[in-house]
Amino acid sequence: MAQILLVEDNPVNAKLATVILRSQGHTVEAVTDAVGARQVLQVQRPDLILMDLGLPGVDGYALTREIRRRPETASIPVLAVTSFAMKGDELKAREAGCSGYLTKPINRLELLAEVQRLLGGSTAPPGGRR
Ligand code: MN
Repeated sequence: MAQILLVEDNPVNAKLATVILRSQGHTVEAVTDAVGARQVLQVQRPDLILMDLGLPGVDGYALTREIRRRPETASIPVLAVTSFAMKGDELKAREAGCSGYLTKPINRLELLAEVQRLLGGSTAPPGGRR
């Protein structure tokens, strides 16, 4: 079980991702933009951030770069979840500091596999992983 920050401005996608992640026992904090994400990151240290790249205002690329720049959040894995499926977008996301990249529509098994990969074993509570 992990604490996950979800940054997604589309309510349907936010709901879907939240339901999928909670079904695995993860705790999900959902925000819709960079302002909300900064507020959460001031008081919490999530194990993983799910990042929609297309956000109103500061986009997901810029927000990821900001997260990477700040020492207190630099090591949190960021998983890009995006409908930008153009050639070069994945590279752009990785250059911004994303640790993983998934395209929409959200696929439950893909999302869970990538979340599991990025969480590794280190964030699991002792004895919490089977
Ligand atoms: Mn969006």
